[in-house]
Amino acid sequence: MSSAPLERQQKILIVDDELLNRKLLADILREDYRVILAKNGEQAVDKVNRHQPDLILLDIIMPGENGYQVLVALKSNPQTQDIPVVFISALDTDRDEEKGLVLGATDYISKPFRKSLVKARIDNHMRMVSQRKLLEELANLDGLTNVDNRRCLEQNLDEEWRRSQRNQQPLSLAMLDVDHFKQFNDHYGHGGGDKVLRQVARTMRSQIKRPGDKVARYGGEEFVILLPETTQQDAEYIMENMRKAIIDLKIPHGYSETGPYLSVSIGGATILPSEREGPVTLLNKADASLYRAKHQGRNRVIWDQ
Ligand code: GH3
Ligand code: MG
Ligand code: MG
Repeated sequence: MSSAPLERQQKILIVDDELLNRKLLADILREDYRVILAKNGEQAVDKVNRHQPDLILLDIIMPGENGYQVLVALKSNPQTQDIPVVFISALDTDRDEEKGLVLGATDYISKPFRKSLVKARIDNHMRMVSQRKLLEELANLDGLTNVDNRRCLEQNLDEEWRRSQRNQQPLSLAMLDVDHFKQFNDHYGHGGGDKVLRQVARTMRSQIKRPGDKVARYGGEEFVILLPETTQQDAEYIMENMRKAIIDLKIPHGYSETGPYLSVSIGGATILPSEREGPVTLLNKADASLYRAKHQGRNRVIWDQ
């Protein structure tokens, strides 16, 4: 039995038209991975889309679509092109192997194979897959607060902008900035300030509920909250709750002109994205609202009208 919980286990899709081969490979791999089976090319493409496996073991000679055709289809789809594919085939000439690798396969194993060798090679590939995933995650995260970083936010915003435009749905975005944070740092130390930023980020995250909602650190003590398919009314409600949740932390701030506890100011905007504007419009409008929130006395939510 593998020690990883089921949802964390890496997934391997085995594609082979012969039951015996599928069973043989599954037996070798089941102990360490979640195994998914397909018996032809059509089933393979369907299961790849449904399960998003970490690796695909692909037979070449199959009735219907052959392995080469399946590989070409996977490589031409942005959703599946990065999933490594290992051919396992009875075609064993150098030309066959070369053709597979040129088409984009990660490795090529000839049948009949030695079980221990297949296991060792697959283990190596799976280690590389998990290292790559970890690096991708780290590249998108802010090191101090563990929420998305600015780069990741900008990518998400671009995608959500286009999606909202297609679906004719409103897109809401808010900017949140800690009030009198320079004073906080100056009196409680930079380490104390860092701790507060982590606490604020955690609280922000606990206030968003839908999987598409995002919290990102935009810079310094400024955060962006992205709320796809959210009306202005709902977005204002969510952000007002976030503002309250942060003041309810009751973090003493003896040098704030706004109140006894650390507070935040929030500026938001809601747009129905169109061709005429780009996502930067939304950021600018939210920024202008934030500026107004600061000038009207801080510790409040102001929305672009
Ligand atoms: P306002 O209410 O107008 O937003 O005033 P403020 O003092 O919060 O704004 P200002 O932009 O003048 O100061 C921001 C401060 O945030 C200054 C900077 O030292 C601090 N800061 C930025 N990034 C970090 C960080 O990563 N850690 C800590 N501890 N402080 C940070
Ligand atoms: Mg500030
Ligand atoms: Mg600031």
